[in-house]
Amino acid sequence: MSRGYNFSAGPAALPEEVLRQAQAELLEWDGVRASVMEISHRGKPFIALAEQAERDLRELLAVPSNYKVLFLQGGATQHFAQIPLNFTRRGQAVDYVLTGDWSEKAAREAGPLADVRIAASSAATNYDRIPARDGWDLDPNAAYVHVTPNETIRGVEFHDIPDVGAVPLIGDVSSTILSRPLDVSKYALLYAGAQKNIGPSGLVVMIVREDLLERCPKDLPKIFNYAEHAAQDSMLNTPNTWGWYLAGLVFQWLKRQGGVAAMAARNRAKAELLYGYIDGSGYYRNPVEPSARSWMNVPFTLPREDLDAPFLKEAEAAGLLALKGHRAVGGMRASIYNAMPLEGVQALVDFMRDFARRNG
Ligand code: PMP
Repeated sequence: MSRGYNFSAGPAALPEEVLRQAQAELLEWDGVRASVMEISHRGKPFIALAEQAERDLRELLAVPSNYKVLFLQGGATQHFAQIPLNFTRRGQAVDYVLTGDWSEKAAREAGPLADVRIAASSAATNYDRIPARDGWDLDPNAAYVHVTPNETIRGVEFHDIPDVGAVPLIGDVSSTILSRPLDVSKYALLYAGAQKNIGPSGLVVMIVREDLLERCPKDLPKIFNYAEHAAQDSMLNTPNTWGWYLAGLVFQWLKRQGGVAAMAARNRAKAELLYGYIDGSGYYRNPVEPSARSWMNVPFTLPREDLDAPFLKEAEAAGLLALKGHRAVGGMRASIYNAMPLEGVQALVDFMRDFARRNG
């Protein structure tokens, strides 16, 4: 058996080069005569690793100097709740834009903590688009506006950053971070679970403007307080050292690839290849409006549901893994994050073409 092309939505494929490096230095890392997993996060070697990872991420995304970069835990879901805990007072308005299942979940978690307003939603059309910006009902006094720039389940992506005026814009970029250049300065806060484009699960990367941290309530338990995490360089308690290490390797890999501009060119080519084939096939179908189609997650259906099981079985036998769509949508989903090479998408398209010919 050999490694297949892994289309999992997350935890997702990591670059093979990164896995090989981690394998090679698993037992003894960087001259410390122990594994990176076995050493103190407060010792010089690990601190140097942590600082290098932050520097590399800052360079990759051109993070302005008035933003903190945090390496946290809890998954993106914990931060659905922790963000309102830090940046609102009970009863204060917060605006959520619903473009899919993850923005719904984010809004639901904020419910007990703030006056959640749904500023816009494409639920009525089954989350097949981004609601046009001129129809958003924003409250100028809201504590923040929350968006999900890429919806992992339905494959809906913002291709522009919405202008929300002076209200801080918060983005859950779990499934799009590092897939293309991003103007960090348009956001007050960005956060991402690591398990798609950054590293293993159990790590959350947050990029937050310093002035927003001044709002964190002093009476919050420290472990929930982002200002405390920032003040202690994400080492308030033992961080996910293994995740941080792997994230650092992924950042270095990205730099060797030519950075996020190079990734954007590759990701665009991958997406165009797959959507182009789907649209022209007359067999497969993607329901998302072309202007809102994700570069990272591509859901598609076959002409009949009874074809799903044989499609998945044959795909797996051909080394094309984890194509089953999310249970909320059915059908298939190909997640084509940074670590998926163009050859993997080409192999998928070749398989899909052959399957359609045999089952037309
Ligand atoms: N937001 C988005 C956009 C996601 O894709 C996911 C996970 N797939 C989450 C949030 C939840 O992340 P976690 O499981 O790390 O809490």
